[in-house]
Amino acid sequence: SLTDPLTGIGNRRAFNEQCEREWRRALRAREELSIALIDIDFFKSVNDRFGHPAGDRVLAEVGKVLMAECKRASDFVARYGGEEFVLLMSGHSSAEAEQVAERMRSAIKGAVVAVDGQEIGVTVSVGVAGMRPARQSSRFELIKAADLALYQAKREGRDRVVTDRTLGAVVADVESTPRSEEHTSELQSQF
Ligand code: GH3
Ligand code: MG
Ligand code: MG
Repeated sequence: SLTDPLTGIGNRRAFNEQCEREWRRALRAREELSIALIDIDFFKSVNDRFGHPAGDRVLAEVGKVLMAECKRASDFVARYGGEEFVLLMSGHSSAEAEQVAERMRSAIKGAVVAVDGQEIGVTVSVGVAGMRPARQSSRFELIKAADLALYQAKREGRDRVVTDRTLGAVVADVESTPRSEEHTSELQSQF
């Protein structure tokens, strides 16, 4: 299956397939490709306070908000796993992706789920990364950079978007000195 049953959006496998396809397409078209990793803040405490079924409803609502905000035909949203979502943006720079991510962060912050007369609201932290795919690099580098940016967003206090600023420089470097196969598979093994 390519659909996550809880949220009705694409699952991680759907993302992997789409990301692979879009990476190759962007490589041929020499276009940029960006992703945003979106992780719900303190979600464990939502489960602890309101129960797992309530947590499930919050996940479904976050999925719905992301779908509603995912307006371009070239945008692809999926549940990456647990309380983490991913947005793939074809043909968009990291600066454009950052704006989309900021809009999503704000929309999720404004949404509430009513459970037993109580309103549950959550915030998200987002890591954004974008690059122009190069033959010597891989989509795993893009995902890794977004993951590091997400980590930074968490560290800096959550409820924020952090955009990777290193990837452009790394790619330029890679173009002059091709990376070893060894390094690529080392990155790949992390996913
Ligand atoms: P942080 O801000 O650092 O991301 O904190 P967090 O609590 O969101 O992160 P942590 O990784 O500690 O906890 C994630 C929680 O998400 C724990 C797990 O029970 C919950 N979770 C994962 N998948 C599901 C699900 O399908 N349904 C529900 N209700 N909870 C889930
Ligand atoms: Mg998480
Ligand atoms: Mg979390």
